[in-house]
Formats: sequence, structure tokens, C-alpha cells
Amino acid sequence: MQITKREFLKRLGLGGAALAGGAALGDQAVKAKHALPAGSCGDPDNVVFGKNIFPIEHTMTDGPSCVLKDGKILQPAREIPIFHTTDVVVVGGGSAGFAAAVAAARTGAKVALVERYGSLGGLFTNGMVLIMLCTSAREGKNFRLVTKGIVEEFAKRARALGDWVCTGPVPPNRHWQPTVDPEGAKYLMDKMVAEEKIDMFFHCWGVDTIQDGNKVLGIVFESKQGRQAILAKQVVDCTGDADVLFQAGGDYRQITHGIGHEVRLANMDRITAKKPPKGKPGRWPTRSNEANKSAWWGNLGIGPKGNGLDVRDLTAAEIDFRKRWWEHVAKMRQEPGWEQVFIANTCSQIGPRASRLVDAEFVVSRAVLRGDYKPDDVVGWLGADGRHAAFPVPYRQLVPKKVDNLLCAGRCLGTGDTIDTFRLICPCFVTGQAAGTAAALAAQAGVTPRALPYSTLRQALEKGGVYLG
Ligand SMILES: Cc1cc2nc3c(=O)[nH]c(=O)nc-3n(C[C@H](O)[C@H](O)[C@H](O)COP(=O)(O)OP(=O)(O)OC[C@H]3O[C@@H](n4cnc5c(N)ncnc54)[C@H](O)[C@@H]3O)c2cc1C
Repeated sequence: MQITKREFLKRLGLGGAALAGGAALGDQAVKAKHALPAGSCGDPDNVVFGKNIFPIEHTMTDGPSCVLKDGKILQPAREIPIFHTTDVVVVGGGSAGFAAAVAAARTGAKVALVERYGSLGGLFTNGMVLIMLCTSAREGKNFRLVTKGIVEEFAKRARALGDWVCTGPVPPNRHWQPTVDPEGAKYLMDKMVAEEKIDMFFHCWGVDTIQDGNKVLGIVFESKQGRQAILAKQVVDCTGDADVLFQAGGDYRQITHGIGHEVRLANMDRITAKKPPKGKPGRWPTRSNEANKSAWWGNLGIGPKGNGLDVRDLTAAEIDFRKRWWEHVAKMRQEPGWEQVFIANTCSQIGPRASRLVDAEFVVSRAVLRGDYKPDDVVGWLGADGRHAAFPVPYRQLVPKKVDNLLCAGRCLGTGDTIDTFRLICPCFVTGQAAGTAAALAAQAGVTPRALPYSTLRQALEKGGVYLG
């Protein structure tokens, strides 16, 4: 409940005269209190915070509450305020969403980026998966970078922030798979988003779509201020779990996968032991695996298989992982030479590797890769990852069947056995850039992404520095 300064003083037994004379509070305090805005509800005894606390207008009212009727919870119809109108809205600010938003803006669209947490990068930064794999094609004994465009620019700019932020480029005969400091990555993503004048909205959870039949007209998000809507000509789903596609009634396949949980240890440069103690199971690193010599990032293996959408599975995994890490590091600290190692932080975004996989117009499976696969709608390349050589990504893989004005990118892409390549960080940047570029072009041309001429898209991707083979 908000009360005015006058009411507050009254309750303390201090009238206006006492305040004016400074009788009970002291002259210094009274002076500061006169600077409070009229009607302030700040604590008059708190000269530090008092001047920052004052009532503001209610920005919106939420609709009527749900009712319980015949054992069912019913939600009455309500009007949802329009919060924003734009050309392209990207939902989810992970690697894919970041690249999609930047690409759409660089293609000339007005862009909004909606993210449920307070920083960009998704599993890459908040999930603390810091190594960008799958970047290059093998050419004889050498490697050639194929994940180009925004992902290459990002890695080079991360490196330019300092050699402690990102592991360096290696000569052409080695694979560059940069490991990036999570705070450096978040800082750089914020900067690049601001450079492109993208409307960034943190703390907004996309919960519904606005539709005309199968055509998506925008999204509804939930925040501390209740439900609000963003109208857009095109929507890009980069939620990792295909939330928007699900809300729009699109088809998908749901899978379980190993849920992971990353951690960062600090003081790695203070370990005096040369190797892990004999017979010790688990992760006993003796030095940093990051550019920063003090830090070590890693996980406890693939983790339990679980439903990455189920709050019970996710809650159990969070608690279990944190407990295991705490006990592991507590043992570590008892070993001679390891006393100073501590957990700098555990990830703030748990890692379901995959959940919903979009039913797209075309899906690159391993069988496709084994065949004579030469798509005529290439929107980028993914690097070799040990299981296969580098290969091109078709535009159709971003286009969901059934739903219009929606493109899907990142780890929710494609069904089946290539998901373990598509879900890696660099591939997510690549498919994100392609989706953002296509969404901007479709918005400008007033066509559905399905009807967008490939030649126009190819030209824009070339301009965006994407490797197309
Ligand atoms: C434990 C683990 C280890 C891995 N190891 C590696 C590795 O070594 N190298 C590698 O390259 N890849 C690795 N990966 C894979 C890689 O990290 C992710 O697949 C990739 O970062 C996913 O990017 P994305 O943008 O598609 O999705 P995400 O990073 O999941 O981003 C989705 C974003 O959308 C937001 N969001 C979700 N739903 C909503 C909503 N409804 N409304 C608004 N915002 C929403 C999320 O908060 C998040 O920011 C690993 C993954 C895990 C889990």
C-alpha cells in the first residue's frame, strides 16, 4: 500500500509544523526531505533512498481473474493493451535471436527483441556454454571458417575486447573454436543490439500469438505489468523450445535429451597440484580452459535425460546439479594444492539440449547428408563436427509447415538426427541470421516468408557476409 509523506509523518505523530521546524528529525534531515517530490511515500528518515521513492501512476490494470467453475479454471475474455508495433519481432535473445535481430535491423526493418531474462546470449552466456563449436570445413590438413557473417564478426569483436575475454584465432591449419567470457559476450551483444537501434525488451515472457487463421500478426508477452501485445509484420521464434510455434498451433516433435548444467570455477591459476589426485572420479581440472587463466568452465557430463519443458524435471535437475557441484568442490578444496578453488557461479539458465523440434518444410537428416545433397536455397553453412563434414543449410528448414509469417531458428530447428549439430552455438547464429534477414525482406515485400524469392534472400545474405558455398 502506498501512503503519502504527510500520512507517514502523521502516523509517526509528526505534524506539518514539526517537519517545518525540523524539531524531531534534525535540520540536515529536514532539508533533504524538502527535496522529496510532493506526495512522496519515501521513508523520511532515509535520506539516501527517500528522494528516489515516490508514487507513480498505475501503468496498467490486469484483467479479471480466473474463476473456478465445476472443477475447471476458466479465464474470462479481456482486452490486452498494445505495447508496441514493429516490422519484425524476435522472441528469445539467445545466439539465434541475437543474430536474427541484428540481421533484420541491418536489412532495414524496425525490430523488437523480446527476452524472458535480463541479458542476451541464452545458453551461450546465461547457460555458460562458452565454447563456439562447429565453425570450419576441413580442407586437406587445413580448416576454413564457414560460419561467417554475424557470428564471425561477433567472435572477432569479442577477441578485440581483450585476450582474456576470448581465446584467439589460430593459424589456418587449426580449428578456431573460440571460448568467450560470458560477461564479455553479454556486454558485446547489448552493444551490437544498441548499435542497430533494436527495441530491446528484457523481462518479457512470450506467452501467446495474435493470429488471423494460420497467419501470425504478433505476440503476447507476460511481464510484471501483466499481459501486453506486440504487433508485427513478421515473427521469428528463437525461444530454443519453439514456444511461439507451439502457441501458434504449429506442428512439432517433442524429444527428451540430456539436460545439462554448467559451472564456472575460479582461482584455477592458484592450483599448485600438477595433476588430479589418484583415483578421484569426476572433473578435476588442473588449469583454466578459458582465455582467462583464473576461470574454468565445464559441466558434469551430459546430465539426466528429461523433458526440458516440464517444471518438475527442470526443478529437480537444478537442485541436484547444484548439490553435486557444491559437494564436488568441497572435496576438491580439501586436497593439498586445491584449497583456493571455488565456484564463481552456476549457470542461471539450465540446459535442456533440445525439446520441441519444428516440423519444417525440409529437414537435413544424416541420410540427406549421405546422399547427393545440394540444396538450391542455401542460407549458410555449418562446420564439421567430428560426425560429418561441413554442410549447407536450406532456407526451407527455417519455414514451419502450416503457420505463416513465422520463421524458426536456433536449437528448435529441424527434426531428427542432425539436431546435435544444428543446436550448437555457431549454427544457431547462422540460422538466426538467415531467419532475421528473411523476416525483414518478407516484411518489406509484404509477402509470407514461404513466398519470398530465394534470389532476393541470397543477395541480402551475401551482403551480410554469410558464406553460401
Ligand atoms: C549443457 C550444454 C552443453 C553444451 N555444449 C555446447 C558446446 O560445447 N558448444 C556449442 O557450440 N554448443 C553447446 N551446447 C548447445 C548450445 O549451447 C545451445 O544449443 C545454443 O546456445 C542454443 O541457442 P538458441 O539461441 O537456439 O537457444 P537458447 O540459447 O536456449 O536461447 C533461447 C532464448 O530465448 C529465451 N526464451 C525462451 N523462451 C522464451 C519465451 N517464451 N519468451 C521470451 N524469451 C524466451 C531464453 O531465455 C533464451 O535467452 C550445449 C548445450 C548445453 C545445454
